[in-house]
Amino acid sequence: MKLIGIGRNYIDHAKELNNPVPTEPVIFLMPDTALLRNNDPFYIPSFTNEVHYEVEIVVRINKLGKNIAQKFAHRYYEEIGIGIDFTARDLQSKLKSKGLPWANAKGFDYSAPISKTFINKSEFSSVENINFSLLKNGKEVQKGNSSEMIFKIDELISYISQFYTLKIGDLIYTGTPPGVGKVEIGDKLEAFIENRNLLTCNVL
Ligand code: ZN
Repeated sequence: MKLIGIGRNYIDHAKELNNPVPTEPVIFLMPDTALLRNNDPFYIPSFTNEVHYEVEIVVRINKLGKNIAQKFAHRYYEEIGIGIDFTARDLQSKLKSKGLPWANAKGFDYSAPISKTFINKSEFSSVENINFSLLKNGKEVQKGNSSEMIFKIDELISYISQFYTLKIGDLIYTGTPPGVGKVEIGDKLEAFIENRNLLTCNVL
């Protein structure tokens, strides 16, 4: 399986990092070794001094598809989870300044915590109206609603599948709302969909 990340999918997050608002989805791939499961702790790797949290709604693909039309995209996923797209921001900034790919800043080992529990999309009034948030040490630092995505879930699936065949179990990290920030050793992150705490990650 593979992880597909979406960059700059919330206007206010693109702005906080002084990035232009995209006119097409910004896609990056992460290997399956990026996954961090079961609320395991995250160890800050030695190659970075600035790891940022980014809380994101995650879509799990449940059907093989290629060149999926947007109007059929809803048939390719049933469940929504939540994840954190840990980013080595110092490394990413260095790579960006040289015009190089961000792969190492995003896809390093255990950089992508994922909730154990996924919620069936039938439990939401609409997948385009899902509230989610992140607490750091008990204080809310990020809050978003899927309605604020520049490119909505069905649009992302259609777009991604032009380039990459989607397979059962693939995970799409759909982008982060504003409020990203640095983690320190000892921090506790808790990610919520609506009022449900679905993911806890201690930083070590
Ligand atoms: Zn992200």
